[in-house]
Amino acid sequence: MKIHNFNAGPSLLPKEVVRKSAQSVIDFNGTGISLLEISHRSIDFLEIIERTTFLVKRVMNLNDDYAILFLQGGATLQFSMVPYNLMNQEAAYLDTGFWANNAIKEAIKFGKVKILFSGKDQNYTHISKNYKIPCHIDYFHCTSNNTIVGTQMKTFPITYDSVPIVCDMSSDIFSRKLNFLQFSLIYASAQKNVSSAGMTIVIVKKDILGKIKKNIPSYMDYKIHIKNKSILNTPNVFSIYTSMLTLEWIENKGGLSILETENEHKSKLLYDEIDKNNLFENKVHKEDRSNMNVSFFLKDQKLEKEFNKMWRKENIIGLDGHRFLGGYRASIYNALPLKSVQFLIEIMKEFERKFS
Ligand SMILES: *Cc1c(COP(=O)(O)O)cnc(C)c1O
Repeated sequence: MKIHNFNAGPSLLPKEVVRKSAQSVIDFNGTGISLLEISHRSIDFLEIIERTTFLVKRVMNLNDDYAILFLQGGATLQFSMVPYNLMNQEAAYLDTGFWANNAIKEAIKFGKVKILFSGKDQNYTHISKNYKIPCHIDYFHCTSNNTIVGTQMKTFPITYDSVPIVCDMSSDIFSRKLNFLQFSLIYASAQKNVSSAGMTIVIVKKDILGKIKKNIPSYMDYKIHIKNKSILNTPNVFSIYTSMLTLEWIENKGGLSILETENEHKSKLLYDEIDKNNLFENKVHKEDRSNMNVSFFLKDQKLEKEFNKMWRKENIIGLDGHRFLGGYRASIYNALPLKSVQFLIEIMKEFERKFS
C-alpha cells in the first residue's frame, strides 16, 4: 500500500536509507550482530562517526575550522547549551516562531537578550529583513526554517565573524545550498530531514569557544565534546549510522544544489495550487514561504470534515496542522517524492471540483 507521508517530524526518510538501517539492526555489515549490540568505542563505530563527520563537512563545504558533533537532548538542549557556551552578557535573537521563542526563553536565563525582530503580532507569517545586528553582542541567533507556520529565511546576515551567527536549522538542514561558512554555529535535531530522533548535529567554529569565564557542566560544554569526538558518553549509535546513510544518499543524488532545485520545484507546485484553488489559502508572506513545511487553511471551516475524509481515505498521512495552529501542513522534506506532492495536488483539485 502506497502511503504519502507528510509528517512534520519524525518524518519520512529515503526508502533505501530505512532499508539499510533496518538491515544493520538485524545484522551489521555481515558481523552476525546487530548495530544495536556493538560498542560505541569499537573500530566499527569509530569508522561510522568519522565517515559521518567527513560527509557533513563535504556536503556543506565546511573547512577544518569547524568541529562536527553528534549530541543528544535534541535541538531543545541546544537552546540552553548555546548561551551556556557563548553568552557573557548579551545576545540578539530573531523571534520568528514557536521554536525561536523557546530558544529565547532559555537564553534569558543566562543574560540579556535583545529581540531584533518579533513576528508574533503577525502570527509569525513574516520575517523581517530590516534588523541591525549590534556589534557589542556575544552572538546572534536565528531559526532558518520555522516548522510550524512554514516560514523560511532566504537570506542571512553577514557579520564577517565580528558577531558569531548561530542558527537552528532543525527543519531545513541539507535542503539547500548556502554559504555555511558565514555561520559560527549550526544545530539541527536529526528527526526532520536526516535520521531518527535522539541525535542532534552541532557544527561549531572552534575559535568561538573558550571565551566564557564560568564553569560549564561537562555534557553542556562543546569543548569537552570536541575533545572526546562526540563519545564523552554513549552516543546514539543508530541515529548517527542512519545519518551517515542519509548523507550518502544526498551525495549520490548530487548534493545540496540538486536537492534545493527539487525542493523548490515541489514547494512551488504546492503553493501554486493553494493560490489557485478557491477553497484554500496560505497566510505566509510570499517571499518568506518555506520550501519544507507548507501550511494552508480551508477558507470555509465548514468543509473541514469533508476534506479530512477525502485525503485520509487516500492514504495521505500527517497533513494535520500543528496543534497550536490548526489547518493543514504538508511537510515536504528532502525524502518526500515529487509524486506525493502531485498526488496531494490532485486531491485538492478534486475537492475543489466537488465543493466550490
Ligand atoms: C523540531 C524542532 C525543534 C525541536 O527539536 P527537538 O529535537 O524535539 O528538541 C527545534 N527547532 C526547530 C526549528 C524544530 O523544527
